[in-house]
Amino acid sequence: MLKVAKFGGSSVAGTEQFKKVKAIVDRDPNIKVVVVSAAGKRSSDDHKLTDLLYLCHAHLSYGVPCDDIIHTIEQRLCQIRDELGISFDVGSEMEKLEKSMSKDMSADELVSRGEYLTSRLMADYLGFQFVDAADCVFFSFDGQIDREKTYGAIAGAYEKYGRIVIPGFYGRLPNGRIRVMTRGGSDISGALAAAAIDADVYENWTDVSGFLMADPKIVPDPRPIERITYAELRELSYIGAQVLHEGTVSPVREKNIPLNIRNTNQPE
Ligand code: ASP
Repeated sequence: MLKVAKFGGSSVAGTEQFKKVKAIVDRDPNIKVVVVSAAGKRSSDDHKLTDLLYLCHAHLSYGVPCDDIIHTIEQRLCQIRDELGISFDVGSEMEKLEKSMSKDMSADELVSRGEYLTSRLMADYLGFQFVDAADCVFFSFDGQIDREKTYGAIAGAYEKYGRIVIPGFYGRLPNGRIRVMTRGGSDISGALAAAAIDADVYENWTDVSGFLMADPKIVPDPRPIERITYAELRELSYIGAQVLHEGTVSPVREKNIPLNIRNTNQPE
């Protein structure tokens, strides 16, 4: 049995969530590839790293300093690192980032650092090999994923290292530059990884117990939809069901890989 597990922003928002992820992964040796989003909100008044980075880019492009935002991001990452005793050197990564920041820096390049840094921490914490999405997820010039090249690179990394962590949401263009997907795109990265290694299951770990009949933020305690076809899933995602990015369905559908929506906060 071969599984790919993708953990969304709420599943990696802070120390406690990291611990839950490790418990899930340690319990299941079938999970070989872990795909990670950028740390999301820890509470309703918190900020997603991705939003902070987009804000940072807006500051940069108007020539307004964004040191405070960078400092907030660094503090969050350092807190996770220190509380979990991870050795990853957040300070020098942030220094590198600050040095590369200029008015001309692309938003994609900057924003991708949310997934990159969160995944570096997770890889260290899980004891898995980190594989940069820039080295295994490839776009063509038209902005479509080059599936053949991507599948080959992910399968190669998996064969080489056995258990790997890949950041979601971004990849590399033929000209070498970083490109991000649309918001919520880490779901797609997970589906690509599942298709690449011919996984038996793609587990999409989030903060709801399955695909629900209504948005739990609006309707209290909605019932889960036990089973759904790929076509229905794509349609519901397309018309606004928040749980999954609509682009997730095609790679797993092509390879007939079941997609399983799981709750990091209620793994059973
Ligand atoms: N971090 C990105 C976002 O907030 C991508 C993702 O979470 O899938 O949209």
